[in-house]
Amino acid sequence: MSLIRDNVRRILAELPPGVELAAAAKTRKPEEVIEAVEAGVRIIGENYVQEAQAARAAVGSRCAWSLIGHLQTNKAKKAVEIFDMIETVDSLDLARELDKRCAAAGRILPILLEINSGEEGQKAGVRPPEAEALLRAAAAFPNLRVRGLMTMGPFEGDPEDSRPYFQTTRVLFEAFRGLDLPGVKMDILSMGMSHSYRVAVAEGATRVRIGTAIFGPRG
Ligand SMILES: *Cc1c(COP(=O)(O)O)cnc(C)c1O
Repeated sequence: MSLIRDNVRRILAELPPGVELAAAAKTRKPEEVIEAVEAGVRIIGENYVQEAQAARAAVGSRCAWSLIGHLQTNKAKKAVEIFDMIETVDSLDLARELDKRCAAAGRILPILLEINSGEEGQKAGVRPPEAEALLRAAAAFPNLRVRGLMTMGPFEGDPEDSRPYFQTTRVLFEAFRGLDLPGVKMDILSMGMSHSYRVAVAEGATRVRIGTAIFGPRG
């Protein structure tokens, strides 16, 4: 009997085709991450570069590693070494630094742009009115591949409170897809957490990031 395994299987069975599950693994032990991967999780979301480095060393590359936490420019080099995707690109400076580090490492990095869909000053992410400019700039960097958008929304509370955040992000996602920019493949819309993923899926998410509903409450 394993709780993590049961949780993963239940969520995977519930998600419609075309919606990926990323397990949000902050504060979890490598054994817990391995259990989730063995139950069918294909993507591990990590918030911190340091923590991800240790987790990846323990778990290996049997899953994809995605950065879902804020990235400081001075950690871009390390992040490029560790992550298969970075979901939280929210400034031109960060995009430029990642492109430079990818050029040095000889790799193409898939990225998502993080949208501050509530336009809250203290939150990470690019505000919707500035998002298209960032998209066009990021698209022009030869070593970055924009794959879509990510947003957070409220961390808890009534899931319905998250819906406007997801709608705002989905509207941008559709508009950006319609631009058909060269080098951009808008196919990932990452939104929804344990309390809100059903609403996110209803609003068009193609990837949900789930922590507590897989691993239990954080200690
Ligand atoms: C922790 C976290 C999640 C998952 O949150 P839960 O409520 O534990 O499901 C999703 N996205 C990000 C960016 C996170 O930091």
